Amino acid sequence: MLIFTDKTMFHEISRISIRSIMTLKEINIRYKEYGSMAELPEDDRILAQEAVKATGSSYSPYSGFHVGAALRLSNGEIVRGSNQENIAYPSGLCAERTAMFYASATYPDSDITAIAIAASQNGEVCRKPATPCGACRQVMAEYQTRAGKDMKIILAGTEQVMVFDKVEDILPFIFDSLK
Ligand SMILES: [Zn+2]
Repeated sequence: MLIFTDKTMFHEISRISIRSIMTLKEINIRYKEYGSMAELPEDDRILAQEAVKATGSSYSPYSGFHVGAALRLSNGEIVRGSNQENIAYPSGLCAERTAMFYASATYPDSDITAIAIAASQNGEVCRKPATPCGACRQVMAEYQTRAGKDMKIILAGTEQVMVFDKVEDILPFIFDSLK
């Protein structure tokens, strides 16, 4: 422990400048964009359409925002999920996690290779894509790590569709271990 009894000495030390070397870094995210679901390659289009179908099973009396998710699994299955709300709001669950947890619980030996997400409101599929919340991105990240293969993410709107090759592209600096 250093104890400064001499006032002069303290002032001298406080004038020492601390130099740090800072590097400005940048992350580039690359994704594909389409003007409609019809423009997607067949597999992606089918999955996006399944996500739209899944909005029909949404239980969302509080938000009126019906979200659907469709997963493609490595065993060839397509699994659908939708958001499930509850009067005690935090008890509800997003469409993406509903689908992923169901898929993992039902087909524990299969990987999720792609997820498509769509939303509808007032009986119409949303023009712009619905983007997943942070918690769902974190869950996607873990299933991707567990699979050891990239998980494609398709965010589908009627006038804009975004396709990301892997979860890192929507969740940089993923939390994946206590280092
Ligand atoms: Zn979510």
